[in-house]
Amino acid sequence: MNISYQAISDVGRKRKGNEDSHFVNEGQKLFVVADGMGGHAAGEIASKVAVEAINEFIELTGSDDEVTWPFGFEEEISLHGNRLKTAIRFANRKVLDATRDKAEYEGMATTVAAVLIDGDTAVLGHVGDSRIYRLRGDAFEQLTSDHSWVNEQLQNGIISAEQARSHPLRNVVTRALGGRADLQVDLQEVPLAAGDVLLLCSDGLTTMVTDEEIARLLGESKDDVQKAAQVLVDEANRNGGEDNITVVLLRFEA
Ligand code: CA
Repeated sequence: MNISYQAISDVGRKRKGNEDSHFVNEGQKLFVVADGMGGHAAGEIASKVAVEAINEFIELTGSDDEVTWPFGFEEEISLHGNRLKTAIRFANRKVLDATRDKAEYEGMATTVAAVLIDGDTAVLGHVGDSRIYRLRGDAFEQLTSDHSWVNEQLQNGIISAEQARSHPLRNVVTRALGGRADLQVDLQEVPLAAGDVLLLCSDGLTTMVTDEEIARLLGESKDDVQKAAQVLVDEANRNGGEDNITVVLLRFEA
């Protein structure tokens, strides 16, 4: 599969700093979005440490057959699945280590949404409320399930989708890098078809633009990922730009 992609991170219209980070490693076909949390610019540090650590581990396992697996190797998932899952857990350890560097880093944390391409398969890993969506033909689908308080309430039928969108606790994530040492990473392997579009994004996009609107905008300009990514960021800003907006858009061709 040939991949065309675009990655954009925008501070938005309300925040002074950008706590999101993203990373693209073309050689390893790795794409990562991270959304940091924490005061005194610590969120910026957390997301940056995370994306760099993920890349470091993916690079290491892409070139060295003798690598040791710091959390073991799971036989029931693929090599690339192990690489991505371990990279995210390795990043969690790095963020936890960094929280001890300075007093103001205490409590910092970050989400991660990452894609590692292996031939015709996309390995997806995520923690927190950054999301991965797929557009296939007209079907637009969220492939990840947010680790957030409102999503748990929604899944348990306690609140409606409409209530979730405007809920005062909608920013509360229940799982993040920088929290527990024994981090649970959601991992899935998704077969790719020619024409598929994957969208990785921080919640600065999804709290400002509805899924229906993202699907419509992507559908209009999906053949041009450069343009489509900018259209999404512009729309989030047009709707208020209340948070940092990061969009990584991938399109696959045979
Ligand atoms: Ca955010």
